[in-house]
Amino acid sequence: MKVLVINCGSSSLKYQVIDSDTEGVLAKGLCERIGIDGRLVYQPAGGDKEITDAPMPTHKEAVRMVLDALVNEKTGVLKSLDEVEAIGHRVVHGEEKFRESALITDEMIKTVESCNDLAPLHNPANIIGINACRELMPNVPMVGVFDTAFHAHMPAKAYMYGIPYKYYEQYKVRRYGFHGTSHSFVSKRAAELAGKPYNNLKTIVCHLGNGASISAVENGVSVDTSMGLSPLEGLIMGTRSGDIDPSAIEFIAKKEGWDISRAVQMLNKESGVDGISGVSSDFRDLEAAAAEGNERAQLALDMFCYRVAKYVGAYTAAMNGVDVIAFTAGIGENTKIVRQGVCDYLTFLGITIDDEANNVKGEEKLISTPDSKVKVYVIPTNEELAICRETVEIVKNSR
Ligand code: ADP
Repeated sequence: MKVLVINCGSSSLKYQVIDSDTEGVLAKGLCERIGIDGRLVYQPAGGDKEITDAPMPTHKEAVRMVLDALVNEKTGVLKSLDEVEAIGHRVVHGEEKFRESALITDEMIKTVESCNDLAPLHNPANIIGINACRELMPNVPMVGVFDTAFHAHMPAKAYMYGIPYKYYEQYKVRRYGFHGTSHSFVSKRAAELAGKPYNNLKTIVCHLGNGASISAVENGVSVDTSMGLSPLEGLIMGTRSGDIDPSAIEFIAKKEGWDISRAVQMLNKESGVDGISGVSSDFRDLEAAAAEGNERAQLALDMFCYRVAKYVGAYTAAMNGVDVIAFTAGIGENTKIVRQGVCDYLTFLGITIDDEANNVKGEEKLISTPDSKVKVYVIPTNEELAICRETVEIVKNSR
């Protein structure tokens, strides 16, 4: 089955066409600057990247350009759009209403809209992308795959906050967690690589990208995760603070004369390793600056590793043990010193890292030594493939 996978942001649209039988990517790319001017990046498998500047006032024009590129006589990968049998859409927030991926219907879209409050930047963009595809390809079945769904089976003791219960009842304030598609994909792959049954394994997944989160996956279920009501909680990230004493927000806001939104903007956009180092949110820049003796860049790296290691310790306790740790996403897949820096705190678990193996970048690899008590892997995430697999399953089951 050929599946179009769509991931819409407010001014962007990433896409891939995947043949689910071979799991090969037939074409991929993105539309950028939607609503500003418009640019299509298109790359067929084995071919060169093409860049086309063209007006894209809305996501509908962007989807149309993607579809045209896919059936283009010279560089297209499909003879006709009829070959697309299903479309899988990434949707960020499914609240408590979506615990699994779901077939997209009018009613389903209304329910997603009712979750917009909790993801005001992401969900509306996801819905715009869904509607654009429905208009242009009304007969193709579509599936919504939620970032929150994999974490929707956490126990209440993990997802509740220590605030009056009525705020959960009235406003559904609780931990939801994000990057679920990645945590699910990587934890499943970790079980395969370790040669252990997924439903009888304790895995900690460290998804370390610009946004970073960590999850405890016990017997195939996410039992805890570091992001919360929003993607601000947990690890120190590129520009996000992660965990902080909430009183600091009031304290700084009063000093600066800010309202709450301005303070939260500081926590989302001006904090993290960027705010600490004053150098960059990008770990390549931080590593280079630290190597040249920049102390704040070094501090940012140290704080990042320390926070990840503390969560690994906490989640080991949450599961009363850990069999496998997996590093994924931009930093997890590429940054040796972060993996080493985290694992240096974990020797008490009997973890030892093979320095040579840990040189890996962007490839699946066991980086722990044969005698390490916990297997540690680098596993590149592939959210598009995970969305494709979910989409195929839901569409086949709905027939
Ligand atoms: P997101 O999807 O959250 O935007 P990614 O998973 O793409 O994030 O990760 C982006 C981050 O990964 C970059 O900000 C950078 O810090 C880090 N990164 C990417 N490639 C490398 C690399 N080759 N070496 C070190 N860090 C890298």
